Amino acid sequence: MFEHFFQCPYCWEDISMLLDVFVSNQKYVEDCEVCCNLIEITVIFEEEMLISFSSVMLAHWQANRTAC
Ligand SMILES: [Zn+2]
Repeated sequence: MFEHFFQCPYCWEDISMLLDVFVSNQKYVEDCEVCCNLIEITVIFEEEMLISFSSVMLAHWQANRTAC
């Protein structure tokens, strides 16, 4: 597994997540452990190297929750 650190697009806190390097195209929806908003994560690996990582606000998600 590959641990990747990124910033929440809502609260900018550092978050880490574990990625499977053997899956070339990955898409996840994670909730931020700090602000609980949903983050859409797209990951591309090529020959076990991380090529692309994007974390964006989930479309259509109302970012108005204040507590978990
Ligand atoms: Zn957050």
